[in-house]
Amino acid sequence: MLLNPFTFHAPKSLSQAVDLYSSLENVKLQAGGTFLLNNLKLLKRKGVKTPKHILSLKKAPELKGIFEEGGMLIIKAMTTMNELFDSPLLTGNMDVLKVAAKNIGTSQIRNMATVGGNLTCRYTWTEMPAIMVGLDADLYFTGQDGKQEILSAEEFFKASAKTDKIFTHAAIKKDPQALIAYRRVKKTPHLDIPLLSLLIKTNPDGKKFKNTRVAINNCVAFGQRDGKLESFIDQSTRSKTLAQEALNHLDEPIYDVRGSDYKKHISRVAIKDAIAGLMEKS
Ligand SMILES: Cc1cc2nc3c(=O)[nH]c(=O)nc-3n(C[C@H](O)[C@H](O)[C@H](O)COP(=O)(O)OP(=O)(O)OC[C@H]3O[C@@H](n4cnc5c(N)ncnc54)[C@H](O)[C@@H]3O)c2cc1C
Repeated sequence: MLLNPFTFHAPKSLSQAVDLYSSLENVKLQAGGTFLLNNLKLLKRKGVKTPKHILSLKKAPELKGIFEEGGMLIIKAMTTMNELFDSPLLTGNMDVLKVAAKNIGTSQIRNMATVGGNLTCRYTWTEMPAIMVGLDADLYFTGQDGKQEILSAEEFFKASAKTDKIFTHAAIKKDPQALIAYRRVKKTPHLDIPLLSLLIKTNPDGKKFKNTRVAINNCVAFGQRDGKLESFIDQSTRSKTLAQEALNHLDEPIYDVRGSDYKKHISRVAIKDAIAGLMEKS
């Protein structure tokens, strides 16, 4: 299907992108394009007006790369899922990002889809949001006035991932002692989108765990924390029965939202399995 005509802009720096973004009317950002281009087709099919300008972020060097800086892992917005998977920096418990990237879509999608697109596209069936919330990432944005804004991933997704700014990078504080469990359930064997993604991060502390973060994306709402489960895990003594007992301490409304019985069941299976996995590692 031919798209409605638009003007394509490919600025060569972040500042050019910011200038264009603030001056053009009826403009949409393009990262990898995997959702955007589908959307343009969908809107045309529905007879809805499509944007007059597409602003690609692909050529801005400031938006590319993964590196470490003062104990922080910095992942730039235009990093593709395949680049994440190939990064030599994602070692130790940070390899959870590789595991997540490897599971996303198909190899064609992973070649194009970016971390920035995954976090900001406002679809709920994506898994990077729960990962970033669980890892307590900070998300950096540059506004149309050129000013930087920093939001924790938790704040960003609590506010429904709305932004009129350009997301530039995520910063994650490395915590090599933390134990991390990530579980993901796919929707169908054919089109691989997640039904559920779950990340639990915790630190063993004597016979207990501390600083536990449980982030879940039930793919109906955005990635969020289960504070009730976190408190239970932190207050309990580590034991073989912890994974089973934890199921009595879930913040139920998170799992009930438009949840089918299968979805609720699979959440419980994933949580139990993740906690059992953490027990084994500790
Ligand atoms: C068939 C298919 C299967 C998929 N399966 C999975 C899966 O299993 N798991 C999963 O997590 N994801 C999945 N995805 C989603 C995919 O991983 C991408 O995250 C998603 O398609 C958007 O990324 P993109 O880089 O292509 O963004 P684009 O499509 O280019 O952008 C979409 C929108 O995001 C916003 N945006 C993008 N970048 C920025 C930025 N830097 N700053 C501000 N706003 C920005 C803009 O509003 C833009 O219009 C799937 C996608 C498809 C098409």
